[in-house]
Amino acid sequence: MAFNLIDLPYADDALDPAVSAETLSFHHGKHHQAYIDKMSAAIEGSEYADKPLEAIIASARGNNQGLFNNAAQSWNHGFYWHSMAGDGGSPSDELQSMIDAAFGSIDELKGQLKDRGVGHFASGWVWLAEKGGKLSIEETHDGDTLADGDFNPLLTIDVWEHAYYIDHQNKRPAYLDAVLDGKLNWRFASENLARGTTWTYPA
Ligand code: MN
Repeated sequence: MAFNLIDLPYADDALDPAVSAETLSFHHGKHHQAYIDKMSAAIEGSEYADKPLEAIIASARGNNQGLFNNAAQSWNHGFYWHSMAGDGGSPSDELQSMIDAAFGSIDELKGQLKDRGVGHFASGWVWLAEKGGKLSIEETHDGDTLADGDFNPLLTIDVWEHAYYIDHQNKRPAYLDAVLDGKLNWRFASENLARGTTWTYPA
C-alpha cells in the first residue's frame, strides 16, 4: 500500500495568523512530505508493504524505531491538519456534554490544553482523547502517537518547534493561544467521537 501526502483540507491561508501559509509550506510541504517519503522507502518490498498505516505503526512500535518514527509522524500530521480549520464550528451535543463532564466547560478545556502544551518538554503532541466514554488530555513525546492504542483521539496539536517558529518564534504559548482561539476543528472532533473508532490515514 502506498501512502501519499494528504492535501490540506483548507486553503493554505485559512489558519492565518495562528499558522501561516509560509509555515504550512514547510510543515506540510517539507516536514510531512519527508516523513511520508522515508516511511515509503522503508516499507517498500518489506513485510509492511501492504498494511494500513495504523497496522504499520502498531507492528513497528518497539521493533523498528526508525520506521515507527516516520510512520507515526506521517499519521500524526495527517490527523493534525484535520484537527484545525478556519471555521471549525462547535462541538456536537454529545461532545459538549462530555467536555462539560470532564473539564467543566470548553474554555476550561482550552486552558488545560494550553497548560499541557506549554508544559510539554521539548517536542511532542498534545491530544484530546476519549477512552471508555471519558475525555482526557494526553501527551506523546517526539513522534509517538495515539493512533494504535486504546484511546480514540479526537484532536491533536503539534508542539514541535517547526509548528510555530516562523509565526511565533520561540513563543509556544502564543501559538497555542492562536490555535485554541477559533482554529480547532470541533466538527472533526465530533465526527471522531461519533464514529467511536480511531481515524484512519487515507491509503
Ligand atoms: Mn510537525
